[in-house]
Amino acid sequence: PRAAQGVTATQWRALRAPSLYARFLHQEVTSSRDTPARVQHGELPQIRLVVKDNIATSGFPTTCASHILAGTSIPFNATIVTQLCRHGMEVVGKAGMDEFGMGTHSTTSAFESVCNAHPLEAYSAGGSSGGSAVAVREGRADIALGTDTGGSVRMPAAYTGTVGFKPSYGMLSRWGVVPYANSLDTVGLLSRTVRPIRQAIVGLRLYKEHDPRDPTSIPDTVRSRCTAEREYYAPTAGPRKNLKGLTFGLPLEYNIEELDPRIRQGWLQAVDTIQELGGRAVSVSLPSTRNALSAYYVIAPAEAASNLAKYDGVRYGYRDTNGSSDAQDGVLYAKTRGSGFGDEVKRRILLGSYTLSSEAIDNYFIQAQKVRQLVRRDFDRVFKLKNPLLDEQHFDLSEMDESVGIETKLGPAQVDFLVCPTAPTTPPLLEQVRNQTPLDSYMNDVFTVPASLAGLPAISIPMDIPVDPASEEQKLLHFGGLQLIGQFWDDARLLSVAERLS
Ligand code: GLN
Repeated sequence: PRAAQGVTATQWRALRAPSLYARFLHQEVTSSRDTPARVQHGELPQIRLVVKDNIATSGFPTTCASHILAGTSIPFNATIVTQLCRHGMEVVGKAGMDEFGMGTHSTTSAFESVCNAHPLEAYSAGGSSGGSAVAVREGRADIALGTDTGGSVRMPAAYTGTVGFKPSYGMLSRWGVVPYANSLDTVGLLSRTVRPIRQAIVGLRLYKEHDPRDPTSIPDTVRSRCTAEREYYAPTAGPRKNLKGLTFGLPLEYNIEELDPRIRQGWLQAVDTIQELGGRAVSVSLPSTRNALSAYYVIAPAEAASNLAKYDGVRYGYRDTNGSSDAQDGVLYAKTRGSGFGDEVKRRILLGSYTLSSEAIDNYFIQAQKVRQLVRRDFDRVFKLKNPLLDEQHFDLSEMDESVGIETKLGPAQVDFLVCPTAPTTPPLLEQVRNQTPLDSYMNDVFTVPASLAGLPAISIPMDIPVDPASEEQKLLHFGGLQLIGQFWDDARLLSVAERLS
């Protein structure tokens, strides 16, 4: 049995190694072919990459911030890490996170909670990719990798004033990424500005790279078809000069009572900016939004319960040998899982096991899958572009629109992008988070889970919000996150619009 070794302080502090520069942000990387050569000749500075601790990196531990994987190293690089290193990036550290990605504030780690960047140390950095966001915010990484299952890249970006991008589901390989909820998991990128992210996805043509080792990686034929129907995939395409000809939808259901008035103000100001840049803003209705959060918190834990069944003390990582070591009587499993997993992970396993049980599956898991379909249809109804994955024979959108009629749709239906806040509030104090119920924390994900359920690309960029000069706290928390959501595989155009807007 491999004994549990705590991750050493040095390993965790790898993230904190000081070295500062941001030249990459001004460096044009246009072609995947000439980049490595320029790196060799020392013309392109090394691009520092920080990687969330649930993504395999040789030479660093990969623990998912869980005791059950403490001391575990995966001896190879995840495909995404290999791809980025091939283009001259260097892994400089692993980033703290919520245990197995389950959380919204990076406080469910078995080792060390993440706090926000200076001067916001008392506040949540968002989760679950909080460490990645803070590394970028503090200038310790040029690009950081995170994973986004229900908002875990976008939420930390919103709370730290950085940019967080979740690509279309299946675009970036998940091989070497420890799964949380397979049907929702995506690898996401964080940076200080949109540009390095657009350069990685479009300039380095990551969007083109199918990975045969990841069964959910979109196949080449579908990639080509999707790309042919989309703009801004040319490696030389720059950000848009203005937003003329584009329509932005404001989902009315996102204007919830719990929305912080300053965030609401910031949202409206962003809409003014969009209009000043020549874009059109209309209100739209996504009626299934209100059920999306409940559906997510049924589907994600169900998939998690199934994924985490393999951590039994026999095959991986930590084994609790305190007591019986006989796997037959189940004591070893129970002890290992009892002491190896943290409370939030156990809560999800219980929830997921229950909703998948024969007595509950019809009322929970199956219903949640139906809601997921409705959420997808809401999006497909409002976007101008068709979802290239839709099988038109089975699902005729034009008929659908007629039969659903005007009452479920308050605004004109045809938009290029949706624009809404990423989180309902500015980052809460960590002290407040500690006193929250799990449900309070789940509520924070209300704006991020719909795009995850539908597999759509979404990005969070910093958003100015009004500040009362008399309030010290407001002066500190002078930003929120603005989320832009696009139709499936419209990632390149989304990034170019986000770059213009930020
Ligand atoms: N907060 C959400 C959850 O706990 C999202 C996490 C994620 O995207 N990994 O499930």
